[in-house]
Amino acid sequence: EKKELEQYIGKPTVTKDGVRIELVANIGKPEDLEKVLQYDGEGVGLFRTEFLFMDRTAMPTEEEQFEAYKTVAEGLKGKPVIIRTLDIGGDKEIPYMGLTKDENPFLGYRAIRFCLDRKDDVYKPQLRALLRASAYGNIKIMVPMVTCIEELREAKALIEEIKKELDEQNIPYKKDIEVGIMVETAAASLMADVFAKEAAFFSIGTNDLTQYTMSVDRGNDKVSYLYSTFNPAVLRSIKRIITCGREAGIMVGMCGEAASDPLMIPLLLAFGLNEFSMSASAILYSRKLITGYSTQELQAVADKAMSFATAAEVESYMREFMAGQA
Ligand code: PEP
Ligand code: MG
Repeated sequence: EKKELEQYIGKPTVTKDGVRIELVANIGKPEDLEKVLQYDGEGVGLFRTEFLFMDRTAMPTEEEQFEAYKTVAEGLKGKPVIIRTLDIGGDKEIPYMGLTKDENPFLGYRAIRFCLDRKDDVYKPQLRALLRASAYGNIKIMVPMVTCIEELREAKALIEEIKKELDEQNIPYKKDIEVGIMVETAAASLMADVFAKEAAFFSIGTNDLTQYTMSVDRGNDKVSYLYSTFNPAVLRSIKRIITCGREAGIMVGMCGEAASDPLMIPLLLAFGLNEFSMSASAILYSRKLITGYSTQELQAVADKAMSFATAAEVESYMREFMAGQA
């Protein structure tokens, strides 16, 4: 089986009807790059930078962050890396940040909300490190947990401000660096047409999108039966995000767990997803699946899947479809 998948190393990820797909990896540390290259990832679709901040007693300095981002950018030799700015709060705690426990952590002081409130000591140093590192490879910046357009505008304004500082100090950076968003809240999905005009790209975070669409804590076992990305509500949301992004001509990727779910991949291809980001070890199998499909032929499958009223029906239909493929 492993040997069989190895034949997909070095092969382009193109569907049977010629649609080029970007098949990239999720990482948390520069060390993870080794596996990305081993499994022939075409880049990094999600670098969760909070891991650089965890398991320590103080914040990593701008310099330390710069080194980490530069290492990843250089290691990828021109392939793209989407670096997500700090996403803490929610279930991720960092003791030295001085956060008090929210009563509803997932609905509270998290990610971009926290960062925009801590511009001087947290967000600016991170963005400055990212911009400086962008001189060494193909870095894109991604803003997590956006709910309203002001948050994206404020982050972009801060980036512009730092660019000016770097210009004055003659420090190089990628002038046309792309700034995109995670689409992972119900609000961002409903406003995807508006966000698509101001974001350079979308990456759908299905882990949170499912949680925030279904109103179900992603870590709570008592209600986990409701947590399904196959729920028609979540599927409609995903489809809408992809359609809005594609209509505006921006790249739409996915970096939540659903991107590597074999039952989900045919639907995502039919919806027009451009980029799939997943753990490195899932890349070759996903390439095998994707190259075996025609997006044209999948349209009828997606239409049928979207006609069901329950997650169970969608999932069992996709299982039947997959079994028929084998
Ligand atoms: C997601 O929400 O789907 C995602 C990729 O981000 P995280 O799991 O880090 O919240
Ligand atoms: Mg998320």
